[in-house]
Amino acid sequence: MTKAIYPGTFDPVTNGHLDIATRASKLFDSLIIGVYDKPAKKLLFSTKERVELWKGAIANLPNVSVEAYSSLTVDYAGQSGAQVIVRGLRMSSDFEGEFEMALMNKSINPNLESAFLMTNLHYQFLSSSLLKEVALLNGNIADLVPPNVLAAFKRKLALP
Ligand code: ADP
Repeated sequence: MTKAIYPGTFDPVTNGHLDIATRASKLFDSLIIGVYDKPAKKLLFSTKERVELWKGAIANLPNVSVEAYSSLTVDYAGQSGAQVIVRGLRMSSDFEGEFEMALMNKSINPNLESAFLMTNLHYQFLSSSLLKEVALLNGNIADLVPPNVLAAFKRKLALP
């Protein structure tokens, strides 16, 4: 049984994240989405909201679950019994940071592997931070997020 975790901030989950999770769910027996509780970033959605939004988005994927975590990602992965950390790669700028992180994680826990899935061409430009900027200025994000996330944006930003 291969268990993987897909960790991230997910503020909020986008169709780019969902595409990675859907594809990873076919590669591994089970996948845990790990929503990091305390990123060094300014958040729009609380941890509880980020977890709930993911849960709404993956309701049709039976081998995928969602949890919040606050420890070091490698420690969290080890405690969950996962063998693999999944991350998505968009452009070359993602590569350097992910490469560094994967090597650091490997040095802390050599039993854990990192697996990288290339972004779907449609979502190559999509990041949660850009998405929030567009949404705050009332731009159309309907094709970029799952329907429950679109509804959450409307509630949070009091949009029509
Ligand atoms: P973090 O703060 O951990 O970088 P994010 O929530 O921004 O977390 O992203 C989590 C993971 O999803 C990262 O591996 C990131 O590269 C990947 N990711 C984000 N957006 C996309 C996308 N549009 N396509 C593919 N992967 C993505």
